[in-house]
Amino acid sequence: MAQNDHMEKIVSLAKRRGFVYQGSEIYGGLAGTWDYGPMGIALKQNIKNLWWKTFVESRADIYGIDAAILMHRDVWVASGHVDGFNDPMVECTKCKKRFRSDFVADNVCPECGGELGPERFFNMMFRTNVGTVSDSSSVAYLRPETAGGIFTNFKNILDTFHPSLPFGIAQVGKAFRNEIAPRDFLFRAREFEQMEIEWFIKPPENDAEWQKHFEMWQKELRDWVSLIGLDTKKISKYETPHRDLAHYSKRTVDLKYEYPFGVHELYGLAYRIDHDLSSQQSHSGVDLSYFDQETKERFIPHVVEPSLGLDRTVLALLDSAYMEEEAPTADGKTEERVVLTFKPELAPVKVAVLPLMRKDGLAEKAREVFDGLKTHWQCQYDETGSIGKRYRRQDEIGTPYCVTIDYNTLEGGTITARNRDSMKQERVAVSELTNYFKEKLF
Ligand code: ATP
Repeated sequence: MAQNDHMEKIVSLAKRRGFVYQGSEIYGGLAGTWDYGPMGIALKQNIKNLWWKTFVESRADIYGIDAAILMHRDVWVASGHVDGFNDPMVECTKCKKRFRSDFVADNVCPECGGELGPERFFNMMFRTNVGTVSDSSSVAYLRPETAGGIFTNFKNILDTFHPSLPFGIAQVGKAFRNEIAPRDFLFRAREFEQMEIEWFIKPPENDAEWQKHFEMWQKELRDWVSLIGLDTKKISKYETPHRDLAHYSKRTVDLKYEYPFGVHELYGLAYRIDHDLSSQQSHSGVDLSYFDQETKERFIPHVVEPSLGLDRTVLALLDSAYMEEEAPTADGKTEERVVLTFKPELAPVKVAVLPLMRKDGLAEKAREVFDGLKTHWQCQYDETGSIGKRYRRQDEIGTPYCVTIDYNTLEGGTITARNRDSMKQERVAVSELTNYFKEKLF
C-alpha cells in the first residue's frame, strides 16, 4: 500500500469511527487543532492511564502533579522560551504561504514554485493577558511544554514529601505551540498533550553516574513502546550530534517512528544538567536547592527528561494497529476487513454485546449481559445492521471481543464470544463471562 494512501485511510477511519475530527470543523476548521471523539478519547485516556500506572502508581519514586496551563511570564523567561523559542520562517513572495525554513530544501516555494522571501524568526508561544488590564504586566503564556510546571513545583514536592534523590516528578497535560506549519494530522498540532517526567539526580562526579540514569530511561522508553504495542520495526533511535546539542544538554536521544509520511520524532530523552532548576532559581529568587541528609551537602540536582507526545503516540498506534485482510463471511465467501489490532488494555471498547436479532427477547437478554459486563470494562451495545456488519464495525475500532446473544442464550444460557484477531468463536456460559474476560483481556 502506498504510504500516502495508508495515511489517508487512517485519517478517514479516525473520522468515520469517531476517533479524531478536525477542530472547529463546522467553521471550516482551525489549523493545527484536532477534536477527539468517543473512541479517540477512550484510546487516549487508556494510554494516559497506562502511562500513569507504569510511571507513577507502580513506583515509589515518581510523584504526579497537574499544574496550571496558564503560567507566569517569568517561568518562560527563565526557561529561555521568551527569547529563544523561535522557529525560522520564510514567506513565499507569490502565494504568501509560510514555511519553516529548515523544512524547505531550496529557495523555491513548495506550494507554487514562487520565490521565498528572507528568513525571519517567529516565537511559537501563545501569548495572552491575565485579568482585565491588557498591558505588559498582565502578559502570560499558555505553556509550550508541561515541564515548566514540574520545575515550578519542585520545591513544593521537596517540602511536602521530602523525597531522596534520585526521584521524579511526572505530569500529563496540554501544551501549546503556534507551529508555523501544522501538518501530518496529529503529528504537528498547535494544541497537543505531553507526558513528561523530570528525573532528578545528584550532580554526577563522573560521566558514568549520569549515563546509568540515561540508560535506565532509554530502557524504560523501549519497554513502554513494546508495552503499548507499537510496531517495534518502525522505531529507531537518533543520537543528536554533539554540535547540535543545546548548550545545557550533554546528551539527547530521539526515539523516531516510521510514520506513513516519513521517519520523525516520537519521543525525546535529554540530560539537561542543572540548567532548568538553576535558571528558575535565579529568576524567581527562590532557593531550589536540595539538602542531602547523608552528606550534609546542598546542591541543585541535575535532570534527565523523558518527554512523550500523547497525540504522536495515538497516531503511531493507529498506524501500527491498522490492518487490512480477507475475512470469511456468513455465506462462506470472503470479504476484506479493516481491523485495528490494539492491545486489549488500550482498545476503546473491550467487549461489544450484540443480540443476533432484536425480537423474541434477544435484545432484552443482551441488555442484561451488557449491564453485567459494563461495570467491569468499557463495553458497547449494538443492535443495528446484520451481525457481519456489526463485527466489521467492532473490528474497525479494535474491539478485542464480541459477545453474540442468540436463541441458545435463551435456552441454554450460553453466548458466543468472538475473538477479533483469530475471528474464532466459542460458546461461554453467561454465568462464566466475567471470569472468561478477566482471563482473556489482561
Ligand atoms: P519537533 O522537532 O518534531 O518539533 P520537538 O523536538 O520540538 O519536536 P520536544 O520539544 O522535544 O519536541 O517535545 C517533546 C514531545 O512533544 C515530542 O517528542 C513530541 O512527541 C511532542 N510534540 C512536540 N511538538 C508537537 C506538536 N507540535 N504536535 C504534537 N506533538 C508534539
